[in-house]
Amino acid sequence: MTSVLFDKVAFIGLGLIGSSLARVIRAKKLARQIVASTRSVKTLQDAEALGLIDAGYTDAIDAVKAADLVVLALPVRATEHVLKMIQPYLSPNTILTDVGSTKANVVEAAKAVFGELPEGFVPGHPIAGGENTGVHAGKVDLFAQHKVILTPLETSAPWAVEKLTQLWQAADAEVICMDVQKHDEVLAHTSHLPHLMAFNLVEQLATREDNLDIFRYAAGGFRDFSRIAASDPQMWHDIFFSNKKAILNAVDGFETQLKAIRHLIEEDDSQALMGLLEHAQAARQHFNHMLAKKTVMEKELVTQKFTILPKEHQFKGTFSIPGDKSVSHRSIMFGAIAEGTTHVTGFLEGEDALATLQSFKDMGVKIEGPENGNVTIHGVGMSGLKVPEKALYMGNSGTSMRLLSGMLAAQQFDTVMTGDASLSKRPMERIAKPLRLMGAQIQTTGEKGTPPVSITGKQVLKGIQYELPMASAQVKSGILLAGLWAEGETSVTEPEPTRDHTERMLRAFGYEVKTEGNKISLVGGGKLVGTNIQVPSDISSAAFFMVGAAICKDSDVTLEAVGINPTRTGVIEILKQMGGDITVQNERIAGGEPIADIRIRGTQTLKGIHIPEDQVPLAIDEFPALFVAASCAEGRTVLTGAAELRVKESDRIQVMADGLQAMGIECEPTADGIVIEGKGKAGHWDAIFTGADIQSHHDHRIAMSFSIAGLRASEAITIHGTETVATSFPTFTQLTNEAGFSIQTID
Ligand code: NAP
Repeated sequence: MTSVLFDKVAFIGLGLIGSSLARVIRAKKLARQIVASTRSVKTLQDAEALGLIDAGYTDAIDAVKAADLVVLALPVRATEHVLKMIQPYLSPNTILTDVGSTKANVVEAAKAVFGELPEGFVPGHPIAGGENTGVHAGKVDLFAQHKVILTPLETSAPWAVEKLTQLWQAADAEVICMDVQKHDEVLAHTSHLPHLMAFNLVEQLATREDNLDIFRYAAGGFRDFSRIAASDPQMWHDIFFSNKKAILNAVDGFETQLKAIRHLIEEDDSQALMGLLEHAQAARQHFNHMLAKKTVMEKELVTQKFTILPKEHQFKGTFSIPGDKSVSHRSIMFGAIAEGTTHVTGFLEGEDALATLQSFKDMGVKIEGPENGNVTIHGVGMSGLKVPEKALYMGNSGTSMRLLSGMLAAQQFDTVMTGDASLSKRPMERIAKPLRLMGAQIQTTGEKGTPPVSITGKQVLKGIQYELPMASAQVKSGILLAGLWAEGETSVTEPEPTRDHTERMLRAFGYEVKTEGNKISLVGGGKLVGTNIQVPSDISSAAFFMVGAAICKDSDVTLEAVGINPTRTGVIEILKQMGGDITVQNERIAGGEPIADIRIRGTQTLKGIHIPEDQVPLAIDEFPALFVAASCAEGRTVLTGAAELRVKESDRIQVMADGLQAMGIECEPTADGIVIEGKGKAGHWDAIFTGADIQSHHDHRIAMSFSIAGLRASEAITIHGTETVATSFPTFTQLTNEAGFSIQTID
């Protein structure tokens, strides 16, 4: 329950946006009193009749007296006039905000009126709306699962920003802080230009003599494209003038692009036209995917769940697990900045690696595929990346965002990286801090050092000697990648060895990287040369099959060509220590990485152990699956030194503990690990878990771990939010079903 945030809220303007926020405040009892001022008495009467306000005034001054929150919800061009009137009646503790679609002009208006801006002034803009206007058009859920951008100024007090954040969060919106100029530039491209184009196209067609025919026979394309031209002309008139500079820039960009495509058609340049259309289609599909995924994730409207029914499952066969995510990411990144062509096989076509691939396409790199795991990257060299037209979207992928932070910090252009709801909660300061020491200008613009990450290019980076405060391969890699462009030597010393895919693959691309104990170093200024990369099967995905086989009677599973990089094999070592029957056979090297076939059999009950801390970084992603193994083991398993698990895609310690407890397992989460009382008994293969409805928190590894637990469950297990499994293991249910363990997927 949200508590009362304000005594008296005054709305100046109570149309679509103002009345929607008033509806939220009313519904959630966030204020003791709501009042409003509008031009027309009718609006105020209607608002009272709707129960939205306690009092209405045609004079804004009457409304704002003694208000502790004033919301300007009127056309932006009326801002200065209204502020002039109400200024003398605002107290120093009043929070003053607005909802206008442009921000620089609102700040200008406030400066003109106040001179020195009050500390309670925090401009804002909800990215939600519609074509209808007026007090009746408002909806209580208008802002739910939408973004609200706050643009705090240097003068804005943290308490005011905090209070407004609480208000918008109570409306179920996601609050993002951004600077004023960035806001106006981003919105010029993403909202103002499309509206301008829609109005303009409708106008172009409407003024033709045969316009009746055109409208009569207009197909879906016209209807889709022109929908937003039904929006309020006055509002858009105001916005086009209020954000003039940024909109003119966006229009210029549009004109240039239009001329380019016109030229290709005129010159019958079929190949180039096809290239442009394919590139745009791929970008649009990626965007679509992003939007679809975001809708699922943010609305928590889970569209997919797994159900496993209790029966005697089998777990047998030989399988090819999809490619390693870490190696797939790096193959694209390094191929892109290499000279020459890189061919990748076994590429993981999961959403995270595809987000990396799309980012490099957005930066002008020509990439063919993926098709059946094959990708060809036409490298552009160390200085060939081009400024992306919009923010780079990293989806759910922390690897992409942290590694790219290092690469982008060294480029000659500015970039912004965003991610989905889950990535937007993950810490980015851990990479931003060392990069700043190298001279990078990088900001984590979300709350609490979280994404979006905003990078100002054209900085000269200098090598640093950095002692990693935590064992993180992503942070190590981000620093080393920035070091490729930095002056002199960059070195990272890690507290424990972490995954060394970056070092191995840089060497495969011909770049010298030195490893002395826990210290890894390279000298900037060299170059990468395109090569062939075979991506090994992902040991993190294989872990679910290893644990599945280890807890299932008479199972016999062989996993082919799995990456057994020594910085990743903790899961094999830990399962062996627990008594798992595992053989690593046919060891060989592919693309600089060691691989092998792994055979696991269910021959004896596992036993609980105290997991050695030196194995923790080597098995960090596999712990959710290992917790399932520990639950089936005889005796207690203790994990310590794994605090990192709390800041993964979800708080994996808490989420696993909640799920295991719901399935009848006694376990105790601790600050840096967990204690699990295994229910197994030597020689017995009965059910360990009771049935349960489990929330995966949209974390793919959590979803797959609980699925595997279904092998030893006495009742049905349902796991909600399993659509994210596709991020790392798109063939998971197909392969488990082939193994004889059936998971039903319900969309
Ligand atoms: P709306 O439904 O047309 O409502 C505007 C309100 O402002 C009405 O209550 C109107 O009073 C009042 N108003 C208009 N001119 C005024 C003036 N000169 N002085 C005092 N009050 C005045 O508009 P809206 O869609 O809520 O938009 C409000 C703000 O939100 C705009 O700044 C817009 O840029 C921003 N915004 C809109 C959307 C969207 O999709 N609509 C999305 C995000 C942000 P009466 O009722 O008496 O006419």
